[in-house]
Amino acid sequence: MATNRTFTMIKPDAVANGHIGAILNDIIAAGFKVVAMKYTHLTEKNAGAFYEVHKERPFYGDLVQFMTSGPIVAAILEKDNAVEEFRKLIGATDPTKAEEGTIRNKYATSIEANAVHGSDSDENAAIEGNFFFSALERH
Ligand code: GDP
Repeated sequence: MATNRTFTMIKPDAVANGHIGAILNDIIAAGFKVVAMKYTHLTEKNAGAFYEVHKERPFYGDLVQFMTSGPIVAAILEKDNAVEEFRKLIGATDPTKAEEGTIRNKYATSIEANAVHGSDSDENAAIEGNFFFSALERH
C-alpha cells in the first residue's frame, strides 16, 4: 500500500557543487512537505550499514567511499504516493538516462555521483527514515 512518506539524501557531489538550495527548491515546488531534515557527514560504518542491501554489488566499496566523501542532507518528505512521486521527480539512476527536467538530469554528474537518493519502496522509506531520525526530529 502506498504511504505518504519517503526518505531522501542530497549526496556529497550535489552538496559540493552548491546545489542544496536548488534541489530543495525543486522538491518543495513539486509539492513535498519537509517532515525532518539534517545536514550531516556519514561515517564509513554508517554508509556501509545504510547500503547493506548492495553489499554484493561490485560498486559497493566505491559507493561507501563516495557517500563518506563529504556532508549530505538527509530528509523525510511527505506527499500523496510519496515514494513513486519522488522517484519520478529524481529520474533514472544513470543521469544520462534521466528524463529532462528531473533532479538527476539537472544536477548529477555520473551514475554514482547522482545528486540524490530516493527510497524505492514504502518499507525502505520507513527503515531509512528511522536510520536518521528520532520521533522528536519529525515535525
Ligand atoms: P537508485 O535506487 O536509483 O539510487 O539506484 P540503486 O539502488 O540501483 O543504487 C544505489 C546507488 O548506488 C545509486 O544511486 C548510485 O549512487 C550507486 N550506483 C548504482 N549503480 C552503480 C554503478 O553501476 N556504478 C557505481 N559506481 N555506482 C552505482
